[in-house]
Amino acid sequence: MIRSRRPLLAFAIVTVVLLSAGRGNPSAQSLDPLSYTVRFPAPATHYAEVEAVVPVDGRPAIELMMAAWTPGSYLIREYARHVEAVRAATLDGRPLAVAKSSKNRWRVETAGADRVSVTYRVYCREMSVRTNWVEADFAMLNGAPTFLTLADSAPRAHDVRIEPAPGWSETVTALPPAPDGRPHSFRAADFDTLVDSPIIAGSPSTYAFTVEGTPHALVNVGEGGVWEGPASAADVERIVREQHRTWGFFPYERYLFLNMLVEAGGGLEHRDSTLLMTSRWTTRDRGRYLRWLGTVSHELFHAWNVKQLRPAALGPFDYEREVFTPSLWMVEGLTSYYGPLAVHRAGISTREEFLDALSGQIETLQTTPGRLVQPVADASYDAWIKYYRPNENSPNTTISYYTKGAVIGFLLDALLREATDGRRSLDDVLKAAYARYSGVRGFRPGEFEAVASEVAGLDLDDWFDRAIRSTDELDYEPALEWYGLEFAPDAETGAEGAPAWLGLDTRVDRGRLLVAGVRRGTPGYEAGFNVGDEILAIDDYRVLPEAWERRLGLYGAGDEVAVLIARRERLVRLDARFGERPPARWRLQPVASPSAAQKGRLDAWLD
Ligand SMILES: [Zn+2]
Repeated sequence: MIRSRRPLLAFAIVTVVLLSAGRGNPSAQSLDPLSYTVRFPAPATHYAEVEAVVPVDGRPAIELMMAAWTPGSYLIREYARHVEAVRAATLDGRPLAVAKSSKNRWRVETAGADRVSVTYRVYCREMSVRTNWVEADFAMLNGAPTFLTLADSAPRAHDVRIEPAPGWSETVTALPPAPDGRPHSFRAADFDTLVDSPIIAGSPSTYAFTVEGTPHALVNVGEGGVWEGPASAADVERIVREQHRTWGFFPYERYLFLNMLVEAGGGLEHRDSTLLMTSRWTTRDRGRYLRWLGTVSHELFHAWNVKQLRPAALGPFDYEREVFTPSLWMVEGLTSYYGPLAVHRAGISTREEFLDALSGQIETLQTTPGRLVQPVADASYDAWIKYYRPNENSPNTTISYYTKGAVIGFLLDALLREATDGRRSLDDVLKAAYARYSGVRGFRPGEFEAVASEVAGLDLDDWFDRAIRSTDELDYEPALEWYGLEFAPDAETGAEGAPAWLGLDTRVDRGRLLVAGVRRGTPGYEAGFNVGDEILAIDDYRVLPEAWERRLGLYGAGDEVAVLIARRERLVRLDARFGERPPARWRLQPVASPSAAQKGRLDAWLD
């Protein structure tokens, strides 16, 4: 059992955090709520047992549905595959007929009852921010993979009561308390709110703070005496303050950072909370810690950008099939631009650390051949079948809308500043778009771009056509010139005698050196290497896996060799001509002698 150091204030403060009002969907009040009780009789077996009392509304049969995906993570995950032993009965215990009606639906005969009890088990052992985990120490439940609901989708309240396993002291969620006032009892105004509100049960360490009168808390599960709780909470608070400075308001009444220290990674945005995962050792490693803070910042930024200001396609949701949008470059990409930027503006990362992070995004974009194949708007549309289902050829065929979208954010921000002589920025575009499109309607493709043109006082249609809807290379020059930045000349490859390079990604598996990726346009691609080839020798001299890089260093660019490989047990010789590793020429740095105007613009951007 993991023991956590829990500050004395934690319980009282979480109570305050949870007391705020719900979303108040008025039509939800007219229908009887569904109410769930979740039990963990044997948490070490990773099961949650759910009992749902479902109103029938006079119907002879009802249909129950398990979501197939969860918003913010665009992949059909078939959550119903973890559901078992679905049974139904009247409230006085008479069994009712249950039949499967599709892969994720169950039809229940109601036999004249006005409410029925439906019970089932959910296997909870997938450690990610969009799935469930249950073990002896804690439960992490997401709404979509946990709660069967009525398939009619009429808005109604969904109540949840958690019966904690022995030793679990708290249940933490952004949901408000249920009207029954019992501990561990919550009310979601509707199913969307339930799906949007992850639930943690266990004995977490909670650090509460208030910014501009709005309560927030960092809730750590699994600190284990390793994670630096108070210091990390102080940094999270600085990020919250910085984002409030950018937007001028909070889009929620209270906010929870649910931070799982479980040796996994990721973050998923919700309306008034986020679920995060990292290693409990993260606070002890500066680089990892800054990346975690970048994720914290990213997910918080989503409270404005995607949870409120969103593409029209992203809500209300059909939880059983995909929804498509070309605008993830905006909601994910611009959020990826602002995530580390807010960490820097909050005074946590240095200017060099911020520029390094941005340089990493640019380098990833510029060394991914798929940027020349698929426009970022199309990559967004195809998120369900490409970004979330990558394979060994993904770098050759598509580009991440996170990466390219973040770089577009950098360039668009500079463009707006230049067009307005430094009076306006991307901040102003987001705020104007929020004022116009947050809420029920959402924005349609092109509408966010139109707001950017208005703020710039320029028609940016052609600029967006190139950046978003074409595979043309992005033009960095105007942004570099505006801020007085340059890409650093690469020190290493400027040296004499550049070492041989094939451009293959390799991995070692059971002592064998295997080709893991072949990028288009590299010498390895030209020579005909395949993913899965085992590399055995160069020019008939054995190369052991650990000697591969060193051996390449003994050849030079332009040398021609025969590489012996094994492909499905057959030996094959591939003629290859070594190339030269492309210079790492995407590292941003300030120019040696910036003008006063450039210095001022860089400060205005980063301070
Ligand atoms: Zn995101």
